[in-house]
Amino acid sequence: MTIREALAQGAGLLNSAQVDTPALDAGLLLAEILHTGRAGLIAAGPDPLSEEDYRRFQALLERRLSGECVAYILRRREFRGLEFTVTPAVLVPRPDTETLVEAALEKITDSPRRILDLCTGSGAVAISLKHELPELEVWASDISEAALEIARANAARLLGGRPGTGFTVSAAPIHFFQGDLFAPLKNSPFFPTHYSLIVSNPPYVCTGEIQALSAEVRREPLLALDGGADGLDLIRRIIDEAPAHLIPGGRLLLEADPRQMKAITTLLETRGYKDILALRDISGQERVIGASIDEQRNSGI
Ligand code: GLN
Repeated sequence: MTIREALAQGAGLLNSAQVDTPALDAGLLLAEILHTGRAGLIAAGPDPLSEEDYRRFQALLERRLSGECVAYILRRREFRGLEFTVTPAVLVPRPDTETLVEAALEKITDSPRRILDLCTGSGAVAISLKHELPELEVWASDISEAALEIARANAARLLGGRPGTGFTVSAAPIHFFQGDLFAPLKNSPFFPTHYSLIVSNPPYVCTGEIQALSAEVRREPLLALDGGADGLDLIRRIIDEAPAHLIPGGRLLLEADPRQMKAITTLLETRGYKDILALRDISGQERVIGASIDEQRNSGI
């Protein structure tokens, strides 16, 4: 069997199982086995595929058919031109989340600036920001130690430096710490208490909607998806607590479900935030919402 034939057969198999992008997925899996890229795969189309590689390809197709996404199978996913390691300990970075990074970049005008990324997961947001604006001082946290391990490794590989662990942050390009949202910042001599920008892609799926998610998404960590009954548990806490950790004029940027924008706007207004603005993702849906703390406001510095 030639590589081209194997590819067509694999794509057909994924297609009959209603996989969204069968040809793309089959191509990525076969390219991985042959240690090549998509162009290399096309060029090698007429070549024979060895029996061993065919068996390995079938094994990866089986995994894909069982609902495992290509990113978890290959253990990597590209986000803003960077290749992130991903495992089932972290959410796979989505193109939607690029809107959050773009909104943050737009808001970072003066330097030096200190930003905090809550629920960092694979570190995609924090690392992209640091990569695009190296002078930024970036702090990032997650409640999951397993996620932080991935984020630290991604930062070390993509930004250089050693993966900082715990409080030994000096050599790390990003200061990662473990904890439940703002809890570690309270009365700690180790962390700055105030930031000019706080960003987060927190879990925001309603508990009742988790079962209806695709098989692929249901393989992602529940901790990174489940936002409680209305999906707003974490968002509510972030909105409540962020003012105490933002400098006057500082800004909060949150990713959320387009259907949650109205409720979040109300929460922000009630808490006294200004300049509330929702931004659309690449599919045209309102995906990110930003708001500022008053310039005059004494946030307790
Ligand atoms: N956008 C994700 C999804 O596709 C949800 C991510 C999150 O909860 N932060 O379900």
